[in-house]
Amino acid sequence: MASRVVRWQQIHGRNNLPWQATRDPYRVWLSEIMLQQTQVATVVVYFRRFTERMPTLASLAAASEDEVLALWSGLGYYSRARNLHRCAITIVEQHGGVFPGDPDTLVKLPGIGRSTAAAISSLCFGARAAVLDANVRRVLTRLVAFDRDVSVSANGRALWDIATGFLPQRNLARSMPRYTQGMMDLGATVCLARNPLCESCPLADLCVAGRSGTAESFPVKTRKLRRSTQSIWLLCAQDIGGATWLERRPSSGIWGGLYCLPWFDSREALADALSPPYRTRLRDLEPVKHVLTHKDLYLHPVIWTVPNASVQKLRGTRFTVAQWTHLGLPAPVRTLLRQVCSQPNEVTG
Ligand code: SF4
Repeated sequence: MASRVVRWQQIHGRNNLPWQATRDPYRVWLSEIMLQQTQVATVVVYFRRFTERMPTLASLAAASEDEVLALWSGLGYYSRARNLHRCAITIVEQHGGVFPGDPDTLVKLPGIGRSTAAAISSLCFGARAAVLDANVRRVLTRLVAFDRDVSVSANGRALWDIATGFLPQRNLARSMPRYTQGMMDLGATVCLARNPLCESCPLADLCVAGRSGTAESFPVKTRKLRRSTQSIWLLCAQDIGGATWLERRPSSGIWGGLYCLPWFDSREALADALSPPYRTRLRDLEPVKHVLTHKDLYLHPVIWTVPNASVQKLRGTRFTVAQWTHLGLPAPVRTLLRQVCSQPNEVTG
């Protein structure tokens, strides 16, 4: 099975992505973190921009967290960016700036889980370690018709054992990088969640679910994600020079660590934050729906043009356009600020 995957990857796999021309663990690690929860096409753009500004682990470790978050702005799941930065600093401080090659050391670093550790160590160092990201899990559960709920930890551990059992046994330096990449490519391009392309699959005659036409029943997940909705009101206070007030979000939770417009749980709470003469001068924009993994966020932007003689004390810190452009902001907030700042200012008294 492993040798088929290796041969298939050489001919049919993805070999031209910008992080594949190298075995530099810095680039492979960065791509693996970016690819968690994000489409390849989006990652390519961000990866190029990130590596132009921070081409080495040392340059990432030397950057400020704000610089890293600004480069990450729009990719979502910002804890990934904060962990990336902490991880780079840890490698510089504790490993002399040299990326560890073995999965057991890698997995102890911030933001690196078992599958990511296996990806880095097998792709860059030929270590015999099994990757089990969502794509690979789909291939393996179908291959052996693994009919237990993969979200139960004991079953998850059993699947790791199966994944490890399938790994190549020989020529690890050559075969492991191709095998790991091949399994990820099979999941991403052939063994699709819906309508898998079994007729083009190198494992078709070995695959229990593929042969019985039951591929889409795997992986088995009985715990469903419960989606929720949340409405928030964002105060976009602007002075006549176009500067705006932003505050940093707490480090955990939605948009953790990013700068954001002052956020309120209700329209009343937002109005109460202003002194009475100003409350009637607010301008409501159309709400915007922003989709997160577990919830739909409805953003209600409210504009207030700060009058020259205002004595109102506002929440947050004043940033000019030139300043906020370089901050790490959530994508919908950046879009909103761009729209608002391109409109002529209207002094509302
Ligand atoms: Fe997936 Fe079909 Fe290949 Fe099985 S045969 S691994 S279900 S694509």
